[in-house]
Amino acid sequence: MDHIRKRVLVTGGAGFLGSHLCQALVDAGDDVLCVDNYFTGQKKNIESLLGRPNFELLRHDITFPLYVEVDEIYNLACPASPIHYQFDPVQTTKTSVHGAINVLGLAKRTKAKIFQASTSEVYGDPKIHPQTEAYWGHVNPIGFRACYDEGKRCAETLFFDYHRQHRLTIKVARIFNTYGPRMHPNDGRVVSNFIVQALKGEPITIYGDGTQTRSFCFVDDMIDAFMAFMATAKAVTGPMNLGNPSEFSILELAEKILALTRSRSKIIHEALPKDDPVQRKPDISLAQREIDWQPTVGLEEGLERTIFYFKGFL
Ligand code: NAD
Ligand code: UDP
Ligand code: UDP
Repeated sequence: MDHIRKRVLVTGGAGFLGSHLCQALVDAGDDVLCVDNYFTGQKKNIESLLGRPNFELLRHDITFPLYVEVDEIYNLACPASPIHYQFDPVQTTKTSVHGAINVLGLAKRTKAKIFQASTSEVYGDPKIHPQTEAYWGHVNPIGFRACYDEGKRCAETLFFDYHRQHRLTIKVARIFNTYGPRMHPNDGRVVSNFIVQALKGEPITIYGDGTQTRSFCFVDDMIDAFMAFMATAKAVTGPMNLGNPSEFSILELAEKILALTRSRSKIIHEALPKDDPVQRKPDISLAQREIDWQPTVGLEEGLERTIFYFKGFL
């Protein structure tokens, strides 16, 4: 059977996850419109797609309305790293909230299916472990992370209200820490920071004592999950946790990266940022059931592939 060519909008398409998603959609034969304001994304990330006939690029800030004709929307636009989302916190909230209203208005007019890149941060500093979708979270509404956490929580509210009120087909994914090639080297997130530091022989900066945990998912697994979720029936709305349930302390992560890079960098400890979640691990039984998905790339293999990428340009 011929592939039915869909018109797909990816907001934040020049970012880390967005560029991998654009690549996968273009390869699948869809007509892809990538929209980005290049706040944290870069043209370099989607350079290889620029000559492809089924790829288009538009510089646009999603806090402003956008009128295009599409069948599916993946809404990824939003800075994701604490240093970037705290740089202009008001713009971060606007991107999540005004941005969501605009893409939802667009989906309402075009009857497009719409996917939201929500986050494990909606659980805040979680008091239940591992986190299931039923948990309402533990978020400081006035702290430094609130522009991101509360912005994403409000975006979820808007998605569910447009679903209930205007019968939109929505897919809300709660993404847990994801890493891989094309993370920005100055992105500030832990995997990119440690790899860059290890490769340059600079000190590895552990914030706090390093006992806080995260569960790291390799980017290819995550993109498979996005596309499988988008293909589900209308009744499957989420919110759905997407992530790799293998949990590591930040100290364990540092040691693994030191071993894999054979680096002689020293570990140093710096102040723990305020409201830094103590632990995080997804319960992915819903994703296993609804989209028959689970991650296939383990941390060592994923780190090796990411280190190989960073070695290419450092
Ligand atoms: P990223 O910073 O690499 O990508 C975000 C992209 O959005 C960038 O290209 C940026 O320029 C663009 N952008 C920001 N504000 C915009 C605006 N107002 N208008 C248009 N474009 C805008 O981050 P990422 O890791 O690729 O994250 C993508 C999405 O996934 C984000 O919504 C993030 O919240 C979510 N997410 C990511 C992770 C992760 O671990 N990578 C975890 C949870 C959720
Ligand atoms: N919108 C958009 N593109 C469209 C349709 C709507 O950007 O194709 C924006 C529009 O600016 C509006 C928002 O989406 O403010 C919400 O649209 P909706 O139809 O829900 O609300 P209304 O226009 O009635 O305020
Ligand atoms: N972290 C660290 N050193 C760094 C960067 C981050 O110890 O150079 C810690 C950070 O305090 C947090 C964890 O690593 O506990 C994950 O941080 P990241 O910013 O990657 O993601 P998030 O906190 O949003 O999950």
